[in-house]
Amino acid sequence: MLNIVISGAPGSGKGTQSDIIVKEYGLTHISTGDMLRAEIKEGTEDGKKAEALIADGKLVPDEMIIAMLRHKIESTRETKGFIFDGFPRTVAQAVALDKMLADHGTSVTCMLKMEVKHELLIERLLQRGKTSGRADDNLETIQKRLDVYSNSTLPVIDFYKQSNRYQSANNNESVEKCFTEVKQIIDNSISK
Ligand code: AMP
Repeated sequence: MLNIVISGAPGSGKGTQSDIIVKEYGLTHISTGDMLRAEIKEGTEDGKKAEALIADGKLVPDEMIIAMLRHKIESTRETKGFIFDGFPRTVAQAVALDKMLADHGTSVTCMLKMEVKHELLIERLLQRGKTSGRADDNLETIQKRLDVYSNSTLPVIDFYKQSNRYQSANNNESVEKCFTEVKQIIDNSISK
């Protein structure tokens, strides 16, 4: 199986690159942000717990996210692999992901980080906010999300660096240019 973790700050283009990767490699896309927004829309218990945290730019509890992810992996049949988008966001989640995949006889092939300049992240998120309808795409929450990202998620990068699974791609320019780099990285990781 080919399992990719796509990481990067909010607004770094994880979702856009994930959509292209899914088409090219036939993977199953798991976005924890999308899953949470669906729970909120359906008014589930998890959705109710997550709503205020998300609107405030905070992370939802590890246990909730890990349980949601386990359920999604276990209910997916016949896939060539997964692309995890927006997960793991903490080291505890990264450890849990390794364990879950090991239980299924597979592992994370590589973690791919999207590199984007700070000013460009804010510009892209504000632009997205005009049409996304997302409660967290406003300047105040964007700043909080970027802080949360630095504090909780950067240690996740070190976790993958230490196990030689870390790769990064420049996403300051076009979607196409970034994907050319992404494809090279994935193809190299597959042939290792
Ligand atoms: P995203 O769509 O990935 O930007 O996620 C939107 C929001 O959902 C985040 O700001 C968090 O509040 C929450 N969220 C998404 N994924 C996770 C995760 N893996 N761990 C904790 N909170 C998450």
